[in-house]
Amino acid sequence: MTTISGIPHDFKKCSKCGEIKPLSEFARCAKSRDGLKSECKTCQAERRRRYYAEHAEEERERKHARRAREISAPGTHTAADLRLQARAQTDKRGRLICWWCGQPIEGPYQKDHRIPLGRGGSNWPENIVIVHVECNLSKGTKLPGEFNGRLL
Ligand SMILES: [Zn+2]
Ligand SMILES: [Zn+2]
Repeated sequence: MTTISGIPHDFKKCSKCGEIKPLSEFARCAKSRDGLKSECKTCQAERRRRYYAEHAEEERERKHARRAREISAPGTHTAADLRLQARAQTDKRGRLICWWCGQPIEGPYQKDHRIPLGRGGSNWPENIVIVHVECNLSKGTKLPGEFNGRLL
């Protein structure tokens, strides 16, 4: 038994490679009219393989760019610089104040780049501030003027 197109009823032509293959070579797809994918399993596997390969490559490049930025950013700072910055951010009552939100830091804190490295900031002490972990996360890579916190 054949269909109008001359393809046996339990076979189907792959829209990708054009081969006529048994229906078992096509994955199920609830959205399509015949309930099967238009591409054969081989073509689908190939498409998936390419997709992952491309994305793995992108991810590698992103990581590489991030590392390169950190290494190539000008300047360095020391633990003593951080202590100085902490003192500058300590209020009269001896509380360490978050650079971004202006609230006291009681729990864990992080150092942050005032101008993100990816936006031309440096590792020099004047670009390093002490902030809440949450404030660092919510600020991300925004510039001080773009961040909706206390701007100093
Ligand atoms: Zn195919
Ligand atoms: Zn904060």
